[in-house]
Amino acid sequence: MILDEILDVLKRENDDTAYIEKNISYTYNELYRFVSNIYNFLLLNNTERKPVIVYGNKQIYMKATFLACSYAGMTYVPIDISMPEERVKLIINQVDPYCIIGDFESKDYKNISSIKIEDMMKEKNYNNIKKIYMKPEDIYYIIFTSGSTGIPKGVKVTYKNLESCVKWLKNVTKIQKGVVLNQAIFSFDLSVADLYLSLISGSAHYILEDITTFNFGTIFEELKESNATLAVMTPSFADLLLTDKSFNKELLPKLNTIIFCGEKLFNITVEKLYERFDSIKIINSYGPTECTFAVTSIELKKDNINESNIPVGRVKEDTNIFILDNKRNILEENKIGEILIVGNSVAEGYLEEPEKNPFITYKGQKAYLTGDLGYMKDEILYCAGRMDNQIKFKGYRIELSDIEKNFYDLNYIDKVKAIAKSSNKNTVTKLVAFVKLKNGINKNITEIKKDLEKKLPGYMIPSIKILEEFPLNNNGKTDINRLRRIVNGE
Ligand code: AMP
Repeated sequence: MILDEILDVLKRENDDTAYIEKNISYTYNELYRFVSNIYNFLLLNNTERKPVIVYGNKQIYMKATFLACSYAGMTYVPIDISMPEERVKLIINQVDPYCIIGDFESKDYKNISSIKIEDMMKEKNYNNIKKIYMKPEDIYYIIFTSGSTGIPKGVKVTYKNLESCVKWLKNVTKIQKGVVLNQAIFSFDLSVADLYLSLISGSAHYILEDITTFNFGTIFEELKESNATLAVMTPSFADLLLTDKSFNKELLPKLNTIIFCGEKLFNITVEKLYERFDSIKIINSYGPTECTFAVTSIELKKDNINESNIPVGRVKEDTNIFILDNKRNILEENKIGEILIVGNSVAEGYLEEPEKNPFITYKGQKAYLTGDLGYMKDEILYCAGRMDNQIKFKGYRIELSDIEKNFYDLNYIDKVKAIAKSSNKNTVTKLVAFVKLKNGINKNITEIKKDLEKKLPGYMIPSIKILEEFPLNNNGKTDINRLRRIVNGE
């Protein structure tokens, strides 16, 4: 299985580069030593095999701990530093971890930051990884996404799910040893692709600085420095890079493949990429965290640019896709309905089962109701929007009601409605929240934002407009359409 394959790579690649972060590169030898040190520490101390939270921002110790946990048969839970403390605590409460590895200082929780992960990694007399404890049915990782109740939802992905995903990705990309470029933070499941493709192929994993803080001056230097051969990114990120003319083949002469996932890819992005990188392979893929990174893929041809809706591709072999009507009957080709995913990619479920659980059994098999609309044409899937209030903003998945719930938790909010402003391409360009304060409350926008920053990551904090009263429609209900028109300047 892939952990055996990765172990071979860790042992074989020796002095070849495994990881490059902030201009520091680490060899496979070093990575193997870090992994074995953490693995042995965990086996010795975490005797109950409880999950381990890995907190940080794309440092090498995160990747090393992911692997150490996997070899030791423990679930890892990545959390990025962009997650405010209050939200991290909501996750800790659900996970009940053995420890938090990384720089998360909180008195309420046991953590091993005092052991100094860096020292542990430097330890010279490490032991080897003698046994792989992870079993196919074990929970390999838990990734948290935005939940409509205001509490993040943890998606439990098994080793079997990941195995199926990585084998498929290897086949789709035909990856060769090279340099794999990372954009996403490790708590976003897009990163699963670059984390494991780099390992499986013995490639260097080149980590771009976190894009939420990135500065255009250095990102192009980093890209040049990377000499990447394969990149995994969101369409939003590609659009951002394409705004600069220097993002072309001269900057990345060896770049042969880009894998897109996470949100809608538009013709214009593909067209520009083909102009700038003439012989590049562009792969579009689709899938939610609940189905282990992605379940469909397609290598886009120049003809696809002419289609008004870029396809997301063919479903992977061990997985099935059905398009359902609202009575859950299967729809014929070309008809739009909800995308149902069935088979090996479907994760185990959520850590805390929601009232209306989209994980279902379909014809005896594990299945996931995505809430995504789509249609099939010649066995190729096309996406056609969402059935609910879930949106993608700067590549991040956000439930608008998650934002609203966190406003209400401030206790001085009488009413709130979060609206996504969209460009004419239906891309979300801004989040806006209309807010009515409770009687007698005197808070300004800066103060409200400050309170919210303790609860939500930066990308979920909207612009705020304070209203005396919410507009009502003819039925006496909040006139949401009017708010939408205000936001979209109509
Ligand atoms: P996440 O769980 O963050 O990966 O987000 C999954 C959601 O992103 C899906 O349910 C879709 O709504 C959207 N999505 C992912 N990939 C694509 C794609 N290629 N085209 C359109 N929407 C996508």
